[in-house]
Amino acid sequence: MSETVLVVGGGLVGALVALRLAESGQTVRVLDRDRPGAEASSAAAGILAAQVEASAPGAAWELGLASRALHATLHRELIELTGDGSGYRKNGALEPTTELDHEARLAACSWQRSRELPVESLDEASLRAIAPGLNARYTGGIYFPDDATVDPPRLVASVIEAASRRGVRFEQGAAVREVTTSGGRVTGVRTELSQRSAEVVVLCAGAWSGQVGGALDDPQEIRPARGQLLELAMSPVPFSPVLYAGGGYLLPRSDGRVCVGSTLEMVGFERGTTAAGQRTLLDRAIDAVPSLGGARLTRSWSSFRPRTPDGLPLVGELGVSGLFVAAGHHRSGVLLAPITAEIVRDLVVHGRRHPQLGALRPDRFRRGLDR
Ligand SMILES: Cc1cc2nc3c(=O)[nH]c(=O)nc-3n(C[C@H](O)[C@H](O)[C@H](O)COP(=O)(O)OP(=O)(O)OC[C@H]3O[C@@H](n4cnc5c(N)ncnc54)[C@H](O)[C@@H]3O)c2cc1C
Repeated sequence: MSETVLVVGGGLVGALVALRLAESGQTVRVLDRDRPGAEASSAAAGILAAQVEASAPGAAWELGLASRALHATLHRELIELTGDGSGYRKNGALEPTTELDHEARLAACSWQRSRELPVESLDEASLRAIAPGLNARYTGGIYFPDDATVDPPRLVASVIEAASRRGVRFEQGAAVREVTTSGGRVTGVRTELSQRSAEVVVLCAGAWSGQVGGALDDPQEIRPARGQLLELAMSPVPFSPVLYAGGGYLLPRSDGRVCVGSTLEMVGFERGTTAAGQRTLLDRAIDAVPSLGGARLTRSWSSFRPRTPDGLPLVGELGVSGLFVAAGHHRSGVLLAPITAEIVRDLVVHGRRHPQLGALRPDRFRRGLDR
């Protein structure tokens, strides 16, 4: 069986890459060792934190802004194609402040304001208007009205459905062991059961990308970083933007659920949640919004972020003709998936290089060491 393109991994990144390639006329098959979309992409909180989490200008910032804008159009596109969207909401992100730290926090965002992006300094009345439930010690806030959220399980399901309608075949239970090559060209992949041939292979296996043989030079460049989350339910939720407080975040959904995140733990691929991790999240949530102490605790879960040394993904060619990678999106894979898919499509189909591709080069860590 020969395909033009084999995508290894059917998370959000792989599914969206597959959709964009199929739209460009490629024959695409996605191989996933499990149910496509079931790993980090469905576990994520879904914050499109292009501004609130940005600390300096640079590639991450440029890509985040571009991709946040693409999410608004992707949502509409998915509704047209599948009848359901991504749950996209432009509800803004808010960092509550006290009298002691307000000016310092505002100054830390001045570089964003000088680029004419909206960053609002809120007084107490404006703060209470959008987040009446906040702890009384907060007297102001920094508000990023253009940051947005999606509902990750809906987003992933819609993208997989849209890609399927565009002719992409998703294959479950196809664990790829290694990429195969001959004479400096990719020839396909070997799964646990068979050899599959293809002209192009795109590695999108998230935190597991280093386990696929014959692809990354250093498998350790993408490592799993476990993140725990929990979900509370209360109605009405006494804040409308995503809150960034106490070192974590609280994301209100439109139906009364609040997603509280997250931990960052280097524990390998150990699944599950811990008492200490969950306590940290609950303490943060109840401290920020005291009435959440009476909310129902409805769910807790964890998954693995694909972490690279600099937090940016590896995107580009892998030194073998026809072999590409788009993996290692760490804490921003939901945000960056739309721009990643466009970058990969442009590279694979048109040989066109995105201006930020240099910052994402898969060999950048080794090049850094060589200098
Ligand atoms: C707790 C938590 C909260 C997060 N919150 C946010 C957020 O708010 N905003 C944001 O932008 N990002 C967030 N992220 C990050 C985001 O979830 C990831 O960066 C993103 O989902 C990575 O997508 P992916 O498709 O690369 O990986 P995944 O979704 O993990 O998909 C990888 C796929 O590859 C498959 N696979 C693995 N090995 C093989 C193999 N050998 N053969 C075939 N298939 C294979 C897996 O089965 C899986 O389906 C969060 C992550 C976590 C853990």
